Amino acid sequence: MILVTGGAGYIGSHCVLKLKEAGEKVLVFDNFSTGHIETVQNLGVEFVKGDLKNPSDINAVFDDYKIDAVVHFAAFSQVGESVKEPYKYFQNNVCGTLNLLDVMVKHDCKKIVFSSTAATYGEPVYTPIDENHPQKPINPYGETKLTVEMIMDDFDKAYGLKSVRLRYFNVAGADESGRIGEWHEPETHLVPNVLKAALGSGQVFKLFGDDYDTKDGTCVRDYIDVNDLIDAHILALKYLQDGGDTNVFNLGTKTGSTVKEVFAACENVTGMKIPYEICPRREGDPAILVADNTKALEIFGWQPSRKLQNSVQSAWNWEQILTNRNK
Ligand code: UDP
Repeated sequence: MILVTGGAGYIGSHCVLKLKEAGEKVLVFDNFSTGHIETVQNLGVEFVKGDLKNPSDINAVFDDYKIDAVVHFAAFSQVGESVKEPYKYFQNNVCGTLNLLDVMVKHDCKKIVFSSTAATYGEPVYTPIDENHPQKPINPYGETKLTVEMIMDDFDKAYGLKSVRLRYFNVAGADESGRIGEWHEPETHLVPNVLKAALGSGQVFKLFGDDYDTKDGTCVRDYIDVNDLIDAHILALKYLQDGGDTNVFNLGTKTGSTVKEVFAACENVTGMKIPYEICPRREGDPAILVADNTKALEIFGWQPSRKLQNSVQSAWNWEQILTNRNK
């Protein structure tokens, strides 16, 4: 059985769906602090409500189920919040993961796929960013993820725990059948925020900064479709199951899009004029973040197949479902 921590969240739930479709037995572990219980109920998957901060919650799962491997998503992930509340982030993301790894080793479960992030690189010193780029995070969120990566290396040396760390760039899109999608409260991410403005939620889309040193003055990011991203997780799991060693991969497309280009893609997909205003820069946003993704192709044979337009289309489909459901 595969344990998916944070399986009720945006990316975790897409992984649960794909694992199920691949015929794997899946158990979700989530405290539903940011994820939604409706999501796992809709997916019809077995779940345990528990908190990684309580080792007894994790022990109970490993005592009750034979867990072969873990895909670990559970974490707080908002950069701005991490700056204001570092204790909350270190406690949850680092201490919680440490508890998980400890219980895993004690139960002889030594394979884990971990959601890491491009935020571990910090301000880029070259672009596109490959896996050997220096890791100097510029916010507590990135620091928590880098700390976990370091702990995982130490656990490999000491206990033989094998990990694949997947460093995500900007994840976008939703399940293409509209069963699940991005659902954060409050929402901070670009694509859903533009689409919420399109739906006339009363909010005008706020574009953070148009004075960057980029082709149109707005930040460049590498948007990876959640469906492609999860394909890489399935391959990473298989890699570990086949005896693969600890490793790390960037998950991105090697293509950068500016905020204005994403906004234009949203107007194009929705066929609407979306209200927006230019606002000051958001603190901690580097100008350009683009992944060199060749390593994942070389080792996993993984290549993203969706374009930004596809991600915006599935996100738009989902955003309308979500809005109608919450009415
Ligand atoms: N962004 C924006 N308005 C928003 C949300 C995001 O202008 O309401 C910009 C943000 O400044 C960044 C890009 O969109 O340049 C992607 O931000 P997001 O929060 O989606 O992801 P991040 O890059 O922080 O992981």
